[in-house]
Amino acid sequence: MSCPKCFAKTKQIKHGYTAAGSQRMRCKLCGCRYTPNPQDQGYDEEVRYQALALHLEGLSLRLIGRLLAVNHQTVANWINSYANYLPPDLPPSILEMAALDGDLADILALEDE
Ligand SMILES: [Zn+2]
Repeated sequence: MSCPKCFAKTKQIKHGYTAAGSQRMRCKLCGCRYTPNPQDQGYDEEVRYQALALHLEGLSLRLIGRLLAVNHQTVANWINSYANYLPPDLPPSILEMAALDGDLADILALEDE
């Protein structure tokens, strides 16, 4: 990870997420903000949210993919990184449900580092 402006490789800190769920970074040396790996904007938050809700209800990735007309591998990618995709204003009931899910608990634990 290096700053696109001053090319520094140190002091690059996480700086939230873009609307599409990509990790944004900030260079502490020159102050510039950038997105190293922009996400595909092809699907909106609503579809990803539905995929997550269905996953939490125990549906298989293939079935979710079929229901939402999304490639199941794409669904798998969302599930694997869905902490990034969760809208910040998620209803508390969903967050509670999500907290019971081991995968998400692991992801959130990593986020706390
Ligand atoms: Zn910089």
